[in-house]
Amino acid sequence: MMKTIALPAQFDWAQLFDALNIGTILVDSRGCVLHWNAWITKYSNVSSDQALGKPLADAFSEPLPKPFIAAINRAISTKLPVVLSNALHKFPLPLYQLNGSSERISQSIIISPIKNEQAELICLIQVTDSSTSIKREQMLRDHSETHRKDASTDPLTGLYNRRFFDAQYTTQMTQARRQKTTLSLIMLDIDYFKNYNDFYGHPAGDSAIIAVANCIRSKLQRSSDLAARYGGEEFIVMLPNSTEAVAKTIAENIRRAVSELQIRHQNSMVASHLTISLGVSSCLAGTQIDTATFIKNTDLALYAAKQKGRNQVQYLPL
Ligand code: GH3
Ligand code: MG
Ligand code: MG
Repeated sequence: MMKTIALPAQFDWAQLFDALNIGTILVDSRGCVLHWNAWITKYSNVSSDQALGKPLADAFSEPLPKPFIAAINRAISTKLPVVLSNALHKFPLPLYQLNGSSERISQSIIISPIKNEQAELICLIQVTDSSTSIKREQMLRDHSETHRKDASTDPLTGLYNRRFFDAQYTTQMTQARRQKTTLSLIMLDIDYFKNYNDFYGHPAGDSAIIAVANCIRSKLQRSSDLAARYGGEEFIVMLPNSTEAVAKTIAENIRRAVSELQIRHQNSMVASHLTISLGVSSCLAGTQIDTATFIKNTDLALYAAKQKGRNQVQYLPL
């Protein structure tokens, strides 16, 4: 048998409605205000004493929009609830932010026809502040976006990190094989960077890494080009659909851009300023090279650039 729990005989309904964190208004079948809770008073600046007994259209200090009045009439005549979509009716009632601004709160409204004890039709209007849920949604969206970025970005340079590169590299290799296009890689590393750090200090070293990252970024032209920080002072660039000639040109442009920064490096054995060495490798259209071999070959090209005197680009065919 179902157990019924009765409310106390003297239950204070007005107090309950006043405690709600939503607005509630009751109107009779003629549209006159029967109930006006504290939430509505708080955001409209109209007390329940001022509003009770008045036609709803006159209860607020400003006129109400026609679609809102029509919605109440519709709820009463059809005896069906009406939901005012927040997308179509953002601010139907003159309810304002509490900070004294003239900005209305964004509202979600449900109008429900109900029968009172005398079986007369009355209408309950429930108003919620949808700006909080909109803000919460926005916060969640921002949060997940930040999270997604954090997981793929190197915090020092803002370039992609190695993990993200590795995932994209596998995808691009598959695509290049399937579409029979040439994929090129550039690996680059700062020359005598240990000496730089030792002499100028770690923070200056970090700034130099950022400067190199910016040079790389500035020389990439296509949105499909991808640059990542591959290790401490080592970077990798992936150029989908790019020939060996294009990759060599981009590599040389990056080398020159770094050199032209003229970042003083008095302990470099190759110049008086900061320089980089670059290795280029291309997986030619239609060839079947595995991902590890291609990376390894690019690393060997970089090694060759170091061996041949640094501050240069070396290409190594596969
Ligand atoms: P090479 O020309 O052969 O590349 O010589 P190198 O001195 O640049 O090479 P090595 O690998 O011996 O040194 C790399 C140095 O990079 C070691 C470390 O002090 C520095 N380094 C690595 N990561 C960071 C970083 O995040 N910030 C700073 N400031 N320095 C870093
Ligand atoms: Mg290195
Ligand atoms: Mg180095």
